[in-house]
Amino acid sequence: MKKYTTLLFDLDDTLLDFGIAEDQAFRQLMTDNGLPFTQSIFDRYNEINRSVWKQLEDHSLTSDQVKFRRFEIFCQEFKISISSEKLALEYLVNLSKGVQFIDGAWEILQRFRQDHTLILVTNGLSAVQTPRIQKSGLGSLFSAVIISEEAGVSKPSVAFFELAWKMAGKPEKDKMLVIGDSISSDIQGGINFGIDTCWYNPANAVPPLPVTYHIQRLGQLPEIIA
Ligand SMILES: [Mg+2]
Repeated sequence: MKKYTTLLFDLDDTLLDFGIAEDQAFRQLMTDNGLPFTQSIFDRYNEINRSVWKQLEDHSLTSDQVKFRRFEIFCQEFKISISSEKLALEYLVNLSKGVQFIDGAWEILQRFRQDHTLILVTNGLSAVQTPRIQKSGLGSLFSAVIISEEAGVSKPSVAFFELAWKMAGKPEKDKMLVIGDSISSDIQGGINFGIDTCWYNPANAVPPLPVTYHIQRLGQLPEIIA
C-alpha cells in the first residue's frame, strides 16, 4: 500500500527558483527606472521584503498591502522620488516572468503525477504566480493550485491546509505529505494541520522544528514516497 497518496508541493524555492526570479526582476526594475543596482541595495530590499511577508504570515498585513508596502519602505529609505506604487507594479510584471526550475523538480512531478494527487500550495500574489505557473507548464501537472491571495488564507494557517485537503478529495490525513523549503509556512503549516512534513533543505541545516523528513535534493523524494 502506498504510504502517501496526496502530495502538497510548495512552489517557490521548492520547484521554481524564486531567488533567480527576484534577482532578474529587481535588476530590470532598477535599469528601467534609471536607478543603480548594487548587491547591497538588493540585499536591503530583500530584508524589507522578508519582513513584510512575515507580517502577512502573522496576519498584520494583507497580500495587497505586501505588494506596495515593500516599495514604500524601500523608496523612503533610499530617498527615491519615483512613485513607489509604480515601482511595485512594474516589479510584479517583471517577477511574473521568472520560471527557472529547481534541479529535478520537473522529473519528480512527472514521476509522481501518475499515481498521486498533486496539489500546488503557494503563499503568493496571483499576478506573479499565475503567469509563472502557466509559463512553466506546472499548471497541467497538478490537480489543484492554491495561491494564498486568491484563497484568502495563507500557510501556515489550518484553514489553508484544510482547503488543500478538500481540493484533494478529503484523503486520510496520514496519507498526506507537505514538501517545502519554508519552516515557518510549509513545515509549521503541516504540523498545525497534523500531516507529515518534508523539509527541502539544500543547505543541510539542522531542522529547527520536528520535521518528518528532510532532504537536500528533490531526487531523494522517491525514497520517502513509496
Ligand atoms: Mg518556498
